[in-house]
Amino acid sequence: PDRAALERAESLILEVPDYPAAGILFRDITPLIADGPAFRATVDALIAPFAGTFDVVAGLEARGFLFASAAAYASGAGLMPIRKAGKLPRPAAKVDYALEYGVAVVEAHADFPRGSRVLLIDDVLATGGTLIAAHALMAELGYEVAGTSVLFEIDDLGGRAALNDPQLHTVFHS
Ligand code: AMP
Repeated sequence: PDRAALERAESLILEVPDYPAAGILFRDITPLIADGPAFRATVDALIAPFAGTFDVVAGLEARGFLFASAAAYASGAGLMPIRKAGKLPRPAAKVDYALEYGVAVVEAHADFPRGSRVLLIDDVLATGGTLIAAHALMAELGYEVAGTSVLFEIDDLGGRAALNDPQLHTVFHS
């Protein structure tokens, strides 16, 4: 792995206070993906522990798409977009989950054979709610979760414990 680029990548995740609401420290990955070698090193680090264990890379809308798409290309796997409510044109599997205020939905088409091994990718692990819903969605579709790989883990929000996936890998953490 390109250690120097990976170290620079970490420094390019910016902390934005009070976005999108007061009290939230938003981790902005756009400066990281703006740097070619940093972006590449990050994608390599996301997939490295899972080499040979997955058939499909699934990304969570929207920032998860950026990393999942590159990870699918780099590994030769197919790509599954896990979308928010109402974006998919054909019948889709659907899982509702609770947010701090209200509910959210994740959806995906059943475009892969049952038993496909899926690597889930997102940019940030906070409370874990989004990835817990993604795991339930994979179960609904008959897919096996090969692992969960996340760019940045916010340690003190309990996402790792809530998700309880022994195959959780995070590249950077707070
Ligand atoms: P959670 O479901 O609480 O783990 O939240 C994770 C999802 O919300 C991911 O898709 C992230 O993109 C987004 N997210 C949550 N908290 C943050 C944060 N502090 N900075 C950036 N993205 C966040």
